[in-house]
Amino acid sequence: MNTSYYLIDEAALRRNLEILRGVRERTGCKILLAQKAFSMFAVYPIIAEYLDGATASGLFEARLAAEELQGENHVFSAAYRAEDIPELARLCDHVVFNSCAQLRAYAPQVLAAGKQAGLRINPECSTQEGHAIYDPCGEKSRLGVTRAQFDPEVLPLLSGLHFHTLCEQDSDALETTLDAVEARFGEFFPGLRWLNFGGGHHITRPGYDIPRLERCIDRIQQRYGLQVYLEPGEAVALNAGILRCTVLDIVENGGKIAILDTSAACHMPDVLEMPYRPPLRGSGLPGEKAYSYRLGGPTCLAGDIIGDYSFDRPLAVGDVLEFGDMAIYSMVKNNTFNGMPLPSIALRTLDGTERCIRSFGYEDFKQRLS
Ligand SMILES: *Cc1c(COP(=O)(O)O)cnc(C)c1O
Repeated sequence: MNTSYYLIDEAALRRNLEILRGVRERTGCKILLAQKAFSMFAVYPIIAEYLDGATASGLFEARLAAEELQGENHVFSAAYRAEDIPELARLCDHVVFNSCAQLRAYAPQVLAAGKQAGLRINPECSTQEGHAIYDPCGEKSRLGVTRAQFDPEVLPLLSGLHFHTLCEQDSDALETTLDAVEARFGEFFPGLRWLNFGGGHHITRPGYDIPRLERCIDRIQQRYGLQVYLEPGEAVALNAGILRCTVLDIVENGGKIAILDTSAACHMPDVLEMPYRPPLRGSGLPGEKAYSYRLGGPTCLAGDIIGDYSFDRPLAVGDVLEFGDMAIYSMVKNNTFNGMPLPSIALRTLDGTERCIRSFGYEDFKQRLS
């Protein structure tokens, strides 16, 4: 297989899914795949063995789940287009709205189709520091209805409430958030059927406090008789895939710089957006091992830098490198800036065979332009 490509590891994916299924089985909560993190539909049949369904960020993801993943189909968008509502009402079991105005305008169509409408709330409880772009409870957030903006007159349209305020967090942050959710919106729970805890639960990360998560779920399900939903994205495919790439050239400018056939800007945009330094197999921090390199992509962007790494032996042109944790928020965010080829998508099955599932070419670049 030519690099670059994402290689998803079925065994690692199943390990995550088993952890999630354990939570479902012990608590009776329902767990959905948040497709925006990971939409590799070739493995949706595997995911469907363990989870209750999927959630979408809009019509296209909802359609993908309807076509490829057995189970419940949910959608949340910060705003819907009127023309998409009939199809969403047909495809989705839950349509979650982001304002009382959109709920009033469109919920009747959802209910007429025999489906349920929900509303995303903003519990105004920030539990993360430093990642303002991932904090939906920050100042002037457009995500979720605050208690001040919530109009109890919409309650007859509602089957449930939804919050999504966490990002890569442990269950202590969920517990704190639930206190705020209950304090602000708990009075409305008795008339509802479900409460959706959103995503951002890093459940499959080693050390995550699963018993505390289960206590949070039990608390809501037992106290109010609500069905709890979780919709993790990251946790489903955390550490379940790598990005394999090749060293194309090595240049020198105040240090050695290796240019790879993959790009931070095109193939791992979270490296620049979040930002973070992805793990690289066999490497150390700069200076930790004998030979240090800055690794970058072949695009024109000066900032197309993946990070600084060190190795036990010098890198050479043609060496293959493996970046870790590349299943999530990677292929779903790819772009072809600079005419960069999209990495292929491959699967390592349980018997260890590596199989290319999809490769992309010039036509995939051209067909998005005109
Ligand atoms: C992003 C998102 C998720 C998934 O978040 P992860 O951090 O990947 O677990 C779930 N629900 C909503 C509404 C989201 O925006």
